[in-house]
Amino acid sequence: MDTQELEKRSIGQAMWRGFKCRCPNCGDGHLFGRFLKVMPACSECGQSFEGQRADDLPPYITITIVAHIVVGLNLSIERASDWPLWWHMTLWPALTIVLTLLLIQPVKGATIGYQWAMRMHGFDPLGDVHDAGLHTRPGDGVRALNNAGVK
Ligand SMILES: [Zn+2]
Repeated sequence: MDTQELEKRSIGQAMWRGFKCRCPNCGDGHLFGRFLKVMPACSECGQSFEGQRADDLPPYITITIVAHIVVGLNLSIERASDWPLWWHMTLWPALTIVLTLLLIQPVKGATIGYQWAMRMHGFDPLGDVHDAGLHTRPGDGVRALNNAGVK
């Protein structure tokens, strides 16, 4: 069985369900047990979430989104008004913290939804077979080239 023979999954639907912090498979079960702690499996359909590898991607995406909003607003208001410095020093850090806390969980959910839809990492039923080629030892590349007759 090849991964391409498996049922195609909707990336947009899975990411939207993940963004809503729901199971990307059924859309009903909760994806998170605590703030950023992913449940081991969906309580509704049983889909395992053990295979997710969101890692550092959600913070990177969140930083990019929040920075564009905060810097854009900051520059617009700076040009259009004459706010006192302490307003700026109060508003922008507070807005950055609030937006980050609001976005990080939905962004992580959307990331997991994408990984699930694309059958990435532990969501790939052939994961062990596909990952086998990634586990190499130092010198494997040179040995492979030598075996192929490349000098
Ligand atoms: Zn589910």
